[in-house]
Parts: sequence; structure tokens; C-alpha cells
Amino acid sequence: MRPARALIDLDALRHNYRLARGLGGGRALAVVKADAYGHGAARCALALQDEADGFAVACIEEALALREAGIHAPILLLEGFFDADELALIVRHDLWTVVHAPWQLEVLERTPLPAPLDVWLKLDSGMHRVGFDAAAYRDAWQRLRALPHVGNIVKMSHFARADELDCTRTGEQLANFAAATEGLPGETSVCNSPALLGWPQARADWARPGLMLYGVSPFAQAHEIAAQLRPVMTLESKVIAVRELPAGEPVGYGARFVTEAPTRIGVVAIGYADGYPQFAVNGTPVAIDGRPGRLAGRVSMDMLTVDLTDHPQAGVGSRVELWGKQVPAAQVVAHSQTSAYRLLCAVKRVPLQHVG
Ligand SMILES: *Cc1c(COP(=O)(O)O)cnc(C)c1O
Repeated sequence: MRPARALIDLDALRHNYRLARGLGGGRALAVVKADAYGHGAARCALALQDEADGFAVACIEEALALREAGIHAPILLLEGFFDADELALIVRHDLWTVVHAPWQLEVLERTPLPAPLDVWLKLDSGMHRVGFDAAAYRDAWQRLRALPHVGNIVKMSHFARADELDCTRTGEQLANFAAATEGLPGETSVCNSPALLGWPQARADWARPGLMLYGVSPFAQAHEIAAQLRPVMTLESKVIAVRELPAGEPVGYGARFVTEAPTRIGVVAIGYADGYPQFAVNGTPVAIDGRPGRLAGRVSMDMLTVDLTDHPQAGVGSRVELWGKQVPAAQVVAHSQTSAYRLLCAVKRVPLQHVG
């Protein structure tokens, strides 16, 4: 069997959820969209089910998969419904929906529902992606409130730049949110992971942590609280071949790495089709049998190459960690022109093994 796999540490996931919830000071929806950022949504949600206040996903397909897996906690659809047909299912499966656009509000107004629906009404406080703008928000809230089949209304918004700790935009968005929702009763929700970690003034009734649950910091720089997160995914494989090369020999596609001295190269069974970044540079950290090592040469679809010169004990069968407990995912991100979000979401083909 191909040795590439992603180990998913569910104890670490629970630890990170508790940290996120504590920082938010209220309740927290665990964001498990996109298959829990590549970690396996059903298994992650089941592991959190006893303590999570609820979950958030991108669409009804993801929500129904969680219900099918036995998740009974509240589930929020972060983009709401994409067409009116979904409403019946949303009510039947007891889901919560975001309402972010006038057309969704109109659909709710003309669709009678058999049971009350809880709605999270989204304000565009400055990201300019989805949400009602400030001028329309109050009216949208009143129209929702007037509907007999609408239950709880949570006021929500989303930050564009909360990962930039010296940027004034998050403060501006917060002020816009406070002004637009002033006097409207009900709970509030604004914090994603970077806001929870870096903007304590943004605390509200409901937090929506995603990335931090998986133990990866959203910040480019070191951060004291983010340092308490525990990595959840360990991506690993094994050495399947070894080359002894003299100085001046190229390795791999495009000869991106050329040996400067006699060099031992190890070939590892994992590649960009598994989600490892294709353009990780020479020197990107890995761990070889638990010791620091480095990538050498361009990543192939199914294999990559590492420098074993300083690892005389290593050979065929040696374990190589690409990121996880020993190699912080953030370091791989820093070497490969990607983001922590995309790094994790890109993981595929390798089997996920959940432990804990
Ligand atoms: C994805 C998402 C989140 C989670 O964001 P992280 O930065 O991963 O914590 C929160 N809220 C909304 C609306 C989202 O789409």
C-alpha cells in the first residue's frame, strides 16, 4: 500500500475548539466547510459533537452529509440557500440559514414554511462580498421579523483583513456593524479565526472559528495565543528510493535542484496530486525520521525529493513528515506561495486516518 497518509488528531481538534470558544467568550460554531478544511467533516464533527454549540458549512449538501453522519447539533449554512427548493430541506433537517441578499429575503417572504426557521442576517460591513449594505440592513431585519415562520434572527458580518493585526480596517468594520445593528435586538456574530485570536474587542455572542480549529495560525508572524494551537493534520509518507549523486547533477523536472557536492537524494511517495504544493522551493522544511530535513527539487505529481546527505541513517522506508507535529504547516506555507487555508483544503487522494 502506498505509504502516504494524513493523520488527523481529534484530541488536538477538541483542544483547539475549546481555545476558540474560550477566546470568543460566548458560543462557537465549528466551521467544517470544505470537508473540514481537508480534515474529514463527518469525523471532525462527530469528534466535536459533545461540546460544540453547532457547526457551519458552505452549502446544504455539506449539511446533509453531516446529518446523515449523525450530527444533531445546529448547522448553519454560511451562504444560505442557493435556490428556493432548498428551503423545505432546510426546515426538515432543522438547519440554520444565512440570508445575505435581497433575493433570498424575497424567497422567504413568498414561501410558507411548516416550522420556524432561524436566520443569520448578514451585513456587509466593508468586505463587499456578500451581505446587505448598511442602508438596507434595518429594513431587511424588519421584514424578516414580520414573517411568522422566521424564528431567531442573529446579526452577523465577516472581516476582510482580521489577519492583518496592524490594519485599521477591522476596527472600521466593527464600528460599521455596531452602527448598522444598533437597537436591533438579538445575538451577534462577527469573529472568524484571526478575529478571535487577534481582535478581542470583536467578541460577540457567537464565534465562527475555522482555520484555528485545525491548529494552524492565520497570521504570518508569531502570535502568543496562536502558539497554543495544536496541529491537527500530520501529512506523511515514506522514502521509496535513494540516489547517490556526484556534484553537478540535476534532480527532477526542470533541473531545479543541482547538487553542489556529493549528495544523497531520497524519493518520497507524495506529490502535488496529494495536495503538497507544487511550487514549494528548494529547502522547504520536512522531517525525516523525526529530524529536520529539506526539499530538494521540483515536486512531481506523485513523488517529491528530499536531501538525505545529512541523514546517513535514513533510507528506503524512512518516514517523512511534510507538515504536522514537527513541521508547522505555516512554514510550508511560507516556502510555497500559498495560504494556510489552501494548503489544508488541497489535501486529497491520501487516506485520512483519524485518531483520538
Ligand atoms: C469560512 C468562514 C469562517 C471561518 O473562517 P476562518 O478564518 O477559517 O476561521 C467564518 N465565517 C464565514 C462567513 C466563513 O465563510
